[in-house]
Amino acid sequence: VLSFDVSPDQHALAEVLDDFGRKVLLGSYRTRAASTDFFWGVQRTLGEMGVLGIGLPERYGGTGASPGDAVTLGLAAETLARADVNVAASPVQTGLVGAQLLDATPEVQERYLPPVIAGEEVLAIAVTEPSGGSDAAALRTVARPVDGGWLLSGEKIAVTWTMHATAALVYAREPGTQGARGIHCLLVPLDSPGVRTSAMPGMGCLPLGWGSMSFEEVHVPTSHLVGQPGQGLFAALEKFDFSRAALGLLCLGAAQASVDEAAAYACEREAFGKRIASYQGVSFALAEAQTFLDAARWQSYRALWLRDTGRPHRAEAAMSKWWAPTVASDAITAAMRVFGNLGYSCELPIQQRLRDVMSYFSADGSAEIQKRIIAVDMMGPVAAGR
Ligand SMILES: Cc1cc2nc3c(=O)[nH]c(=O)nc-3n(C[C@H](O)[C@H](O)[C@H](O)COP(=O)(O)OP(=O)(O)OC[C@H]3O[C@@H](n4cnc5c(N)ncnc54)[C@H](O)[C@@H]3O)c2cc1C
Repeated sequence: VLSFDVSPDQHALAEVLDDFGRKVLLGSYRTRAASTDFFWGVQRTLGEMGVLGIGLPERYGGTGASPGDAVTLGLAAETLARADVNVAASPVQTGLVGAQLLDATPEVQERYLPPVIAGEEVLAIAVTEPSGGSDAAALRTVARPVDGGWLLSGEKIAVTWTMHATAALVYAREPGTQGARGIHCLLVPLDSPGVRTSAMPGMGCLPLGWGSMSFEEVHVPTSHLVGQPGQGLFAALEKFDFSRAALGLLCLGAAQASVDEAAAYACEREAFGKRIASYQGVSFALAEAQTFLDAARWQSYRALWLRDTGRPHRAEAAMSKWWAPTVASDAITAAMRVFGNLGYSCELPIQQRLRDVMSYFSADGSAEIQKRIIAVDMMGPVAAGR
């Protein structure tokens, strides 16, 4: 089946977000991006617009489940990223958190889903550790069973929203277990005794409050187990299959805005007595970037559409997650060159987009790990060295 249509509702949402992006976000993107403060006002507005509760239950303020939710999430991320790459991460991160919380106890759902969907609070997802993130099944944080729950000890690193989150979904293993089996997902309020957080600002994405967390014998009650005991990592990996494609679209949205701006500039800027768009050295670079953006965009939407229609899509989501950030950063670089000295200048958003988009080379799994997933899909476990 081939279908490239979006529904009237999806089209209307994209129009509203595009308008919001142009009028409210774009002009202040660089100011927000230069600060580690969180954009709570914008987050609440996203909540009011319904983009933080796509596919999540109506009783908690979400939109309720619809057949095209994954594509809608991608559309929201792509559209918002044209104006602000970091704001565009909110629907994806919240979608990922929300999807995991659907496996939590009613107590946890009632406490956290309404404020997260309303944009009043954010939650982090803590998998990566100082000893490594690619081999997530080798994580070392331990959840030792005690009466009424667990005692959590270990360290997480490179976690988005650490500095803004009320709580984190922490992945920790039962002592004595190995590999992916035996890893629980635990909801841990970050003001619990024994939790410490610290910031680790990167070369971009400052407002995302990236940071590390340490846990020293933190008591986590049984009611804060999310999903089945020992199945936490498997459940999370299944959710990454939509967040990865949505993040690909986020990168492509930022790149498309850069290419559009460069194309408009090329039609006005003169050199050697002619508009620079008339030189094929300029116009072909943008034409090539546009070709790759177009191809990567449909590849990413196809992954989300496969999810929406209940078809296998793990390899396709992995393709979006490695290819789209590569295509996007190449396209942003091409746009930057067209602007000459201005492209490098902090007066334009292009350099900021490049720094923000580059975070997605690693966030949610590196390109190499995505290629490993694709290779296993093609050739079986032998491609993972098993
Ligand atoms: C902006 C940003 C946000 C992030 N947000 C979060 C978050 O919210 N929560 C969270 O838990 N983590 C988060 N991360 C961490 C991210 O998931 C990890 O960086 C990623 O999984 C890679 O892990 P690592 O950094 O430990 O690299 P490593 O696992 O040490 O890998 C180092 C290098 O070796 C390569 N490599 C490893 N194994 C193989 C292999 N088998 N074959 C080929 N190459 C291989 C990797 O691709 C990489 O290039 C974030 C990272 C960034 C940059």
